[in-house]
Amino acid sequence: MLDPHINADVIIVGLGAVGSALVLHLARQGVKVVGIDRFDPPHDQGSSHGRTRITRLAVGEGEAFVPLVQRSHALWRRFEAETGERLMQTTGLLVVGAPAGDTAAYHGQAGFFARTRSIAQRFGIEHEMLSPAAVRERFPAFLPGDDEHAYYEPEGGVLFPETCIRVQLMLAERAGARLLRRCRMQGVTPEGDGVAVQTDAGVLRAGRAVLCTGAWLPGQAAALPRLRVLRQVLHWVEPEVPAWFDAGAFPAFLWLHGPDASDAFYGFPRVDGQAGVKLATEQFTQLSDPDHVDRTVAPAVEQALLDDHVAGRLRGLAPRVLTSTTCLYTMADDGNFVIAPHPDTERITLVSACSGHGFKHSAALGESLAQHITGQPTRCDLGSFIAPR
Ligand SMILES: Cc1cc2nc3c(=O)[nH]c(=O)nc-3n(C[C@H](O)[C@H](O)[C@H](O)COP(=O)(O)OP(=O)(O)OC[C@H]3O[C@@H](n4cnc5c(N)ncnc54)[C@H](O)[C@@H]3O)c2cc1C
Repeated sequence: MLDPHINADVIIVGLGAVGSALVLHLARQGVKVVGIDRFDPPHDQGSSHGRTRITRLAVGEGEAFVPLVQRSHALWRRFEAETGERLMQTTGLLVVGAPAGDTAAYHGQAGFFARTRSIAQRFGIEHEMLSPAAVRERFPAFLPGDDEHAYYEPEGGVLFPETCIRVQLMLAERAGARLLRRCRMQGVTPEGDGVAVQTDAGVLRAGRAVLCTGAWLPGQAAALPRLRVLRQVLHWVEPEVPAWFDAGAFPAFLWLHGPDASDAFYGFPRVDGQAGVKLATEQFTQLSDPDHVDRTVAPAVEQALLDDHVAGRLRGLAPRVLTSTTCLYTMADDGNFVIAPHPDTERITLVSACSGHGFKHSAALGESLAQHITGQPTRCDLGSFIAPR
């Protein structure tokens, strides 16, 4: 049962990418904060596992995200300096686009390649436009066609999501946050001047609550009908020429090679000590319940990655997937994040840093959300994400 003396100003439900950042920044502001999670984060049941996430500064999803990712990079580096842990590796980032690729709705919107380039120009983000021949020469595993174009961003790279979450939670506890792991919220309601969070270990009370529950949020908040929960698969493919896939020779990449949203794949250099090269597609199945996910990956799905995406585009890989895992995307139709008041009360805030690209922004999002909640000016403008009441 819960300690009856727990005393909180704010309860954060969900300690994944967003919740771990938020609980840290609130605690550092001196707020009495309690964070709860139904699992023991970092874990492999939500949206933040699989060892790596891409980060890129010219965010083709829209320029409102650029200050968030820039600030997040500074925060990840600060947490690295504070702890000696490795949270981010700058490996470079390559976006390859076929002429038809920009008609596809990548992360909710068409024009991803063109927007990436124009945002880089507008924000002064270092980048190069590479010819297909230059890509093939500099990065031997890549085989872009002669009609494809490529954007290279040297400051792009890879985040280590499980370490980011673990480190932020550790720093939050050091700053005074109270964390309750394996504690599941059953419901949250306004009560008097505050809120009551019903959990499987008893009721917690506080002035306000924030739900950062990832793939579980749509089921907890009927007010968010535009969020869908999708099952995604990550694969690790055996390299035949391992050196071609090490950082330096192989940047993190996105490749938009056709006119449909599913004509895209992305991948990572071998920076995480694993034997395989991590690759994934934008193919997914919609879920009705994140508690009932088929976590097995059919051989046909692995073969489709090799046949429909890898073949003719990457060389130096064996035609063999070593292992695969499933992950949950929460997707807004417009590719945006959601920060919304609960329909019953402003004292409950719903947050989804979703749409398949949220991890890179989560550190700064947590910082600015903490400032927003405590009525301070926010470091990053959250206006594009806050839904009106
Ligand atoms: C396959 C895949 C690839 C991705 N690639 C990238 C990428 O390359 N770059 C990038 O920037 N982003 C990427 N993303 C997106 C990014 O990972 C997500 O946007 C981000 O991790 C979402 O974080 P979150 O905090 O919303 O959810 P989560 O990290 O899943 O956290 C939600 C937490 O809420 C908890 N919870 C839920 N319900 C309850 C309850 N009732 N009580 C208590 N706790 C509860 C869960 O246990 C969980 O810990 C990818 C996502 C996926 C799935």
